[in-house]
Amino acid sequence: MRRLRTAIDGMELPAIEKISDAQAEDPFQILIATLLSARTQDATTHAASTRLFRRARTPRSMAALPVPEIEKLIYPVGFYRTKAKHVKACCDALVARHRGRVPRTMEELVALPGVGRKTANLVMIVAFKSEANICVDTHVHRIANRLGWVKTDSPQETEQALYRRTDPRWWSLMNLYLVTWGQNVCRPLRPRCGDCAIAHDCPRIGVHP
Ligand code: SF4
Repeated sequence: MRRLRTAIDGMELPAIEKISDAQAEDPFQILIATLLSARTQDATTHAASTRLFRRARTPRSMAALPVPEIEKLIYPVGFYRTKAKHVKACCDALVARHRGRVPRTMEELVALPGVGRKTANLVMIVAFKSEANICVDTHVHRIANRLGWVKTDSPQETEQALYRRTDPRWWSLMNLYLVTWGQNVCRPLRPRCGDCAIAHDCPRIGVHP
């Protein structure tokens, strides 16, 4: 992780980090941007979030938007129709259950419509500065397995295995480091092992030449 920290210096940040910087770490905007980001390119997520937040900046104002309008604003993010419904339902729940605020516990976050562990962990880390969460997406899952840190079949298993096997001081940073690495070097297809700063420490499990 120390070597990765040096290696990612100067690389482009993942979309949620950019949104976090731009929106002064507003928990609501981080929650919605993370909801939009699944199976979507970073640049598309960033542009869609910016359009949506320009139209509505709070759970109350976003809950008042009709679903077709949300669809139009977030298009072309992946699964934009389903995500538009989730955004609306999530905003309704925030208003009805949490007085228009984003809750601060995993239990309450994962009870919101459309919010899974990945989104909830990222909100805990980025918005609420938690150091007790690891956010595992496909990049973290893939790279942790290639490096031999874990031997798991799903992101959910990877998250639990990483809690057991890694030093807590790195937990909140793992997503930022590994997503940046996964987008630039340890890509899903054709990872750039020849240019990799941590190649000496990597058994390249599951990587075929
Ligand atoms: S050596 Fe290859 S598989 Fe291992 S971390 Fe680097 S790019 Fe990924």
